[in-house]
Amino acid sequence: DDDSRIHAIKSKIRVVPNFPKPGIMFQDITTLLLDPKAFKDTIDLFVERYKGKNISVVAGIEARGFIFGPPIALAIGAKFVPLRKPRKLPGDVISEKYVLEYGTDCLEMHIGAVEPDERALVVDDLIATGGTLCAAMNLLERAGAEVVECACVIELPDFKGRDRLNGKPLYVLVESH
Ligand code: AMP
Repeated sequence: DDDSRIHAIKSKIRVVPNFPKPGIMFQDITTLLLDPKAFKDTIDLFVERYKGKNISVVAGIEARGFIFGPPIALAIGAKFVPLRKPRKLPGDVISEKYVLEYGTDCLEMHIGAVEPDERALVVDDLIATGGTLCAAMNLLERAGAEVVECACVIELPDFKGRDRLNGKPLYVLVESH
């Protein structure tokens, strides 16, 4: 059932204290990818939720959204659009800056990748403050798409990122404190 699959997924995520800097509890999904059953269950849980929902585009956030997004897109018959860090995409782009603990970062999307009125799912590995997903949603909405939901493998609820998503639904498989 769902609970036993989710329990197994959580057990495969390695938590690395003080990486990449002191005080960060890094949630390492590479150990989940090493287990084919847990990796497949992760994708299947998302696919079971989103198939038949008329989603035309899955937008994955660099870098770990590029691992989980494409298999979901293929399984539900949607296109995949990468949302990338600055100066990686070769075509004309729209950009969204967002605030980090120290400084700012930015996501870019190719103009023309998403058309007005498309139904979008945004995928990343993890939500902490929600700043990254918020920037991703802004890109899609500027292109005229409707963001149906955001989906992450892991939520760090202590950062209250959910509150920054302008009321958009967020679906996560596991929480970590
Ligand atoms: P945020 O914008 O604060 O919600 O941060 C989410 C982004 O930062 C995602 O792309 C995550 O991959 C990454 N991230 C933030 N905190 C962690 C963490 N503790 N472990 C792994 N990745 C993280």
